[in-house]
Amino acid sequence: MLRDFFISASTNSNIMSYCEYVWTMDKENVHVHYHDREYGFPIHDDNHLFARLVLEINQAGLSWTTILNKKENFFKAYDNFDINKVANYKQKQFDRLMNDAGIIRNRLKINAAIENAKKIKLLQKEFGSFEKWLDHHHPKTKEEWVKLFKETFRFTGGEIVNEFLQSTGYLPGAHVERCPIYKKILVKKPAWMKGKR
Ligand SMILES: [Zn+2]
Repeated sequence: MLRDFFISASTNSNIMSYCEYVWTMDKENVHVHYHDREYGFPIHDDNHLFARLVLEINQAGLSWTTILNKKENFFKAYDNFDINKVANYKQKQFDRLMNDAGIIRNRLKINAAIENAKKIKLLQKEFGSFEKWLDHHHPKTKEEWVKLFKETFRFTGGEIVNEFLQSTGYLPGAHVERCPIYKKILVKKPAWMKGKR
């Protein structure tokens, strides 16, 4: 999501963190809710993890602001990211999504959501849950994670994997240490705190 900000502020050479960027916003801004309540917080629900992965995939080439503005539509269109439901999507549901102006209508991204749901179902069978699969592989460097995700999922390039793992607490760096949310997250013991690296 930082790309989003750096594009709009690219003429300014001062590097500002996402936290600082959000601090300047009205509290009604979609970024404020995301920054204060979601970004970097551990997720212990597979459907919610899947939702985050799909949203990050959908950001590719677009701004995170666009995704946050469409977030509710995404949840509605994708059956609240119920992994079992999405894994069973057929041509009919694919066509419905392609015709839904409320979300991102991109063939590859929609396909990735369906195929990744199928893959997560296999991981759930083998490891107990998507979260347990992540925990099983944690800790890894960003490069190792990217390699693993590319071998496992569709449409998971470096930026997408990095954002997904930072936003779910597997990789550090979501918030600057002087951000009040940083301390709130520490209490929830994100995976990166328990990392061996
Ligand atoms: Zn912050």
